[in-house]
Amino acid sequence: QHIHAPDDLTRLLQDIYEQAMTIKTGKVADYIPALAAVDPEQCALTLATLDGETFTVGDTQTQFSIQSVSKIFGLMLAMERLGDELWDRVKMEPSGQAFNSIVQLEWEKGIPRNPMINAGAILISDVLVSHYSASKNAVLSLVRSLCGNEAVYADHEVHESEKDHGHRNAALAHLMKSFGNIDSDVEELLDHYFWQCALSMSCENLARSFTFLANDGVCPFSKKQIMSKRDSQRINALLSTSGMYDQSGEFAFTVGVPAKSGVGGGIVAVVPDFGVISAWSPRLNEFGNSARGMFMVREVANKLGLSVY
Ligand code: GLN
Repeated sequence: QHIHAPDDLTRLLQDIYEQAMTIKTGKVADYIPALAAVDPEQCALTLATLDGETFTVGDTQTQFSIQSVSKIFGLMLAMERLGDELWDRVKMEPSGQAFNSIVQLEWEKGIPRNPMINAGAILISDVLVSHYSASKNAVLSLVRSLCGNEAVYADHEVHESEKDHGHRNAALAHLMKSFGNIDSDVEELLDHYFWQCALSMSCENLARSFTFLANDGVCPFSKKQIMSKRDSQRINALLSTSGMYDQSGEFAFTVGVPAKSGVGGGIVAVVPDFGVISAWSPRLNEFGNSARGMFMVREVANKLGLSVY
């Protein structure tokens, strides 16, 4: 529904974007050369409402590495294939640790705390590789249909670079395998995980892709039921409790909507019954969340009174 006139929204986004551009804190992800080379000044903000309007400011058409935002796409397919059995293999609890932490996995005997930390997404990749004959194609066709852009692809250089520098993620996979929580070949599932992290999308593509989560599982444009209302509520619950890693509590407190971030600098925030806010700027804060992105999403949510709590 309209809660503000379009001109007001455009002006609001523009103001917030301009303030965000003055933020110079944070550091571009540098664990792989392909991400370290990204121009840190790029910045984009999009608001896609359920009535089909899209408001954009900045580099909203530029494709960037969506990284952990892709964990949502993987999770959707795994939920569909395994049903509730999935929750025997991965929990739904906040981790209270960094996204790539390994210690907790040892304590918890190879069961990841949630699907949004790396260990959880690697477990999900195992499910996809074991249950789909072509797991990458399954993810790609889901993503393409959700954002309505058939040109979305995974960046080859980022994919290769992730593989070359993926020792910590490999350690997570092997540790889970040693506890018997991984079925497929570790190399094969890691290849899927790294490929998925390397998906390249624009800020606008992202906003559009996740509108179904704001609409009880139904895509507001195609009217297609993407997933059940129950499952879309469950994904939103996971995003609320673990989507922003170890800053999820603060995000709920100061912003108050389900959201997911990635180390490429993207953030997508779902506002139930209203729409999706997506933001992108490469410099990250200490938690691995985009510094400008955090500011922009928070401002939009606060100024429009969008907290769900
Ligand atoms: N490719 C990254 C990793 O595996 C994804 C993590 C992220 O975006 N937080 O470390």
